[in-house]
Amino acid sequence: MRTSILIGKIKGIPIQLHISWFLIAILITWTLAGAYFPATNPGWNQALYWMVGAFTAVLFFASVLLHELGHSIMALREKVPVKNITLFVFGGVAQISREPDSPGAEFRIAIAGPLISLLLAGVFTLLGRLPGMAIALAAPLAYLGTVNLILAAFNLIPGFPMDGGRVLRAALWKRSGDLRHATLWASRVGRGFAFIFILLGLGQILLTGSFINGLWTIFIGWFLNNAAQNSYQQVLMREALSGIKASNIMLQQCQTVSGDLMLDRLVNDYILTGGQRCFLVADQG
Ligand code: ZN
Repeated sequence: MRTSILIGKIKGIPIQLHISWFLIAILITWTLAGAYFPATNPGWNQALYWMVGAFTAVLFFASVLLHELGHSIMALREKVPVKNITLFVFGGVAQISREPDSPGAEFRIAIAGPLISLLLAGVFTLLGRLPGMAIALAAPLAYLGTVNLILAAFNLIPGFPMDGGRVLRAALWKRSGDLRHATLWASRVGRGFAFIFILLGLGQILLTGSFINGLWTIFIGWFLNNAAQNSYQQVLMREALSGIKASNIMLQQCQTVSGDLMLDRLVNDYILTGGQRCFLVADQG
């Protein structure tokens, strides 16, 4: 089943929307137009709230996309191919096809995203404060400034596979020269942060009674924990498979059977009893 929709390409990188993105797109627009702007800027008419809400949501997702493009373009500069960028319910992800060649490359690719978010935070905040800016523009710009700042800070949490975790892995990798070891520790820290999120979520539900927010925090923790585990497994797998040729693991001994052998005998006497799946059919040697 196709779960993502291609919406275009930037620098040859396919940009996709995962089906789960539509859920968050609706949720964010609805929250902005129905709750956030009416609370912070009372007195506008309904149509304006929805226009400003939609405008803010579009720029928010553009900000997420630019963050991922930051990683991707740096990856391409480091000669690491990028398969695609996908926006999904928890944000965006750039599918980088392999590990970078060096800790330096890893660091530059990891830090590029948060740097873009910081830059956007600055640009939106400044634009929002321009003298004479209409409030219907200044309010969403100020909001986007804050959101990009949060995006940069959140991504810099030092647990793999968050950007900050990749920075941590690059540092550990540089120190030990061992990518697997660095990934192990960076993903352990990542899982630690994931559990903190889950605990925070439980706390939100039990102590403050905000069920939806708490559930959301728990989901983020659960997602981060899975991502940390999976990324470490991937590194292990890649390491286990690298440098091994097909001929190293092929079956070397194939029984020979005669070309006259009847198939029922082959099945009964060789395949079912012997468990072998490979036979050479030989005729007169
Ligand atoms: Zn990032």
